[in-house]
Amino acid sequence: MPQPLRLIETSPNPPARADVVVIGGGIVGIFAAYYLAKRGLSVAVVEKGRIGAEQSSRNWGWCRQQNRDARELPMATRSLELWEQFAADSGEDTGFSRCGLLYLSNDEAELSRWSSWRDFAKTAGVTTHMLSGPEATQRGQATGRAWKGGVFSPTDGTADPAKAAPAVAAALMKLGGSVHQQCAARGIELEGGRVSGVVTEAGTIKARTVVLAGGAWASSFCRQLGVRFPLATVRQSIVRVLPVEHRLPDALHTTSVSATRRSDGSYTLAISGRGRVDMTPQLLRFAPQFLPMFAKRWRNIRPGGLEGMRGGHETLARWRLDAPTPMERVRILDPKPDPVAVKQTCQRAVELLPALAQASIADTWAGFVDSTPDGVPGIGPVPEIAGFILAAGFSGHGFGIGPGAGHLVADLVTGAEPIFDPAPYRPGRFTESAWGKVADF
Ligand SMILES: Cc1cc2nc3c(=O)[nH]c(=O)nc-3n(C[C@H](O)[C@H](O)[C@H](O)COP(=O)(O)OP(=O)(O)OC[C@H]3O[C@@H](n4cnc5c(N)ncnc54)[C@H](O)[C@@H]3O)c2cc1C
Repeated sequence: MPQPLRLIETSPNPPARADVVVIGGGIVGIFAAYYLAKRGLSVAVVEKGRIGAEQSSRNWGWCRQQNRDARELPMATRSLELWEQFAADSGEDTGFSRCGLLYLSNDEAELSRWSSWRDFAKTAGVTTHMLSGPEATQRGQATGRAWKGGVFSPTDGTADPAKAAPAVAAALMKLGGSVHQQCAARGIELEGGRVSGVVTEAGTIKARTVVLAGGAWASSFCRQLGVRFPLATVRQSIVRVLPVEHRLPDALHTTSVSATRRSDGSYTLAISGRGRVDMTPQLLRFAPQFLPMFAKRWRNIRPGGLEGMRGGHETLARWRLDAPTPMERVRILDPKPDPVAVKQTCQRAVELLPALAQASIADTWAGFVDSTPDGVPGIGPVPEIAGFILAAGFSGHGFGIGPGAGHLVADLVTGAEPIFDPAPYRPGRFTESAWGKVADF
């Protein structure tokens, strides 16, 4: 793996039985398991590779309300509280802090969009400050140039992708939950139309409830069960540079390039929204549903290559439960970063933040973002199969809302009052209409 990640020790042998099995040890699955274990349920997490090794350690670490689609804002607000509460309750370090996020721009249209969002956010009780030209220039002094305006969202923050999911896994194990790495779930057993167990490569775990938090693999897994879950993955690239002497903003977004300070003082650099779409059988299958999404985002999306085929996560093949599956052949999706994006990111970063001219590149990597047609995740019971809960399709912004998503899953499984309205995330919407409103950001 090219990206930094805390490695944790877990048990190779899954239990014979659990109240709930969670498939996927990314930030969403692991938080879901943590909140379930806190309620006294026996929980087993099965992860085909390493905890956090796919999207959840490959992202920028932004935990933001700023510019969230209205459907996700309540989840974002509650998640920020939960990041703090998790650290206080567990004593584990996710690297989370409310450092605030800084957005700078010289584009009047962009500033006007941010201002409209600020007006909407006020109605939801979210504070965000529009910055005048002089204020933006002052806050962005590390750029050494003047700005027309910007936004500072003081209650937002970042967590460390290298630490977060493993920290939650450690807390989960202290609560008695079991975590199994190198353990792919191959399929689900049903009795009378209801989940009765999860077949893994290391044996079957009997359970009446299963949560699929499989990120980029969720659609092909659903296909084995006859459940249609439209996903397209977009390959995004990142550069990490070693610490520099000058203190730069903790989290800075511009259209050209964005920079985020990590807890070890290094910075991740990336071009927001830029990605490659690799041709795969699954992409062709769901392409019509993604037309509105691609129409909205086409400026940043480029055609890709064979990385998606190599990954195997978008196969349309059916696999057997008694033989190795694509998930065992590719334990960790580790696609090649896009060299064009990497070069542009480095050039633009030095133009934006001259102090980075002295910075050495530590690593570059890429990750497959799992996107739904409307850019909003699918969270909730899958209508076709009793006991089967979906939590996937986080569309490039699921790290920051991982705690809220996990809490909601635990609410839905236990029948508790949901922490926020689950209606916008209903998986049933994917079969009811071809196109939903594409998320604004
Ligand atoms: C470059 C990049 C930048 C991003 N920046 C941000 C950001 O700043 N802020 C933000 O909020 N979000 C960001 N995101 C998005 C964010 O990383 C994801 O939305 C989030 O991590 C999704 O978490 P997850 O748990 O759903 O999926 P993942 O982290 O992908 O985890 C899914 C896990 O399921 C496992 N799995 C799949 N199938 C099986 C199976 N059958 N059996 C066992 N295990 C299985 C996989 O191995 C994987 O570990 C970014 C993403 C990328 C790639």
